[in-house]
Amino acid sequence: MSNSLVERAEALWRDLSFPSVARWKEETGGLAIGYMPVWAPRELLHAQGCLPVGILGGGQDLEIIRGDAYYQSYICHIPRSTIELALNGSLDVLDGMLFPATCDVIRNLSGIWKLKFPGKLARYLDVPQNFDPAVGGAFLRHELFELSADLAARGARPLVPEALRRSLALYNENRALVRTLHAMRAEAPWKVPASEAYSLLRASLLVPVETSTEMLRAYLAAVEADTARRPMDQARVLLTGSFCEQPPLGLIRTLERSGCYIVDDDFVQVHRWIRGDVPLTGDPLDALVQAFLEDSIESPVRYSADGSKGADLVDRVRRTGAEGVLFCAASFCDPALLDQPMTVAAVEKAGIPWTAFKYAENNGQFQVIREQAGTFADALKLWSGA
Ligand code: SF4
Repeated sequence: MSNSLVERAEALWRDLSFPSVARWKEETGGLAIGYMPVWAPRELLHAQGCLPVGILGGGQDLEIIRGDAYYQSYICHIPRSTIELALNGSLDVLDGMLFPATCDVIRNLSGIWKLKFPGKLARYLDVPQNFDPAVGGAFLRHELFELSADLAARGARPLVPEALRRSLALYNENRALVRTLHAMRAEAPWKVPASEAYSLLRASLLVPVETSTEMLRAYLAAVEADTARRPMDQARVLLTGSFCEQPPLGLIRTLERSGCYIVDDDFVQVHRWIRGDVPLTGDPLDALVQAFLEDSIESPVRYSADGSKGADLVDRVRRTGAEGVLFCAASFCDPALLDQPMTVAAVEKAGIPWTAFKYAENNGQFQVIREQAGTFADALKLWSGA
């Protein structure tokens, strides 16, 4: 298969000057609104003529010069690189930033943003942990309504139901392709390496949904047509814990080279946060809220009823045919690491082998992880089914 699409995608997301966003603004005159992990109402932004821009930190390509001064040393890396991007002018192209409720770190970052960039839109996007439509639903509807008013006050189109319905349809189409991509990975991971899927999905955060849909279609068609990629004797693993700060691309490739087929993961999770189609009948804002309440994935940043933590992970392992689990969380990621004992207990109870390690988005050395993952993969191949 020609790798040019994947190479272009990688070049796009690794360019921290965000040229695709600048081009879109020149062509449309619209507002570009950044958002942090894990979920943002991209459909609403799109319906108001804005470009939602996923900001997942600076990764391995950014030297932190001033960002460290804003945070203590014992927290994750993504807030430092994100504030660094803002301070060095890389995010000047954005007209605003959304900080979805994931943890105190993101909440604090939203406060810093408001102080440092008073002229820009900066919203802490609170999301409900009560999933009763009359309580959490009413709350989220109000949050989204306020956000839409903020956007309109800054020059975005007012929110109208027909436009939102159109945007929901476009994102439904996009999500369906993302589901197909992941289904292909689970079925034939040698055809869709995790590192390629990651680059495509990450680049998709920086372009309009219509362009992302074209990219996904082109990639899927190329995968279907490619008969050269053949299965190798690798272990099938599910990787979990990397839903916010993303591991370096080099780490994903290292895991693949160490003998693992990553058949499922938590990378670039905004694409999968809402599992299925958002209904296109009835009030579209209510439909989006309802999808958030009732059709979101399980996540460390989402409340689960007592005793149910880990059940979804075990189910994913079964569905994807994974032989083992890699718990792969960002260092100091409280939500991931506080969940881990419960999810580990669930996979142990289900008899699923696992191993765990941590990373930072700017790690450059992977030898220790390579040895650990390689040994884990060998053990899976030797002992699975024994
Ligand atoms: S990596 Fe974890 S702790 Fe850090 S900002 Fe993201 S969710 Fe919060």
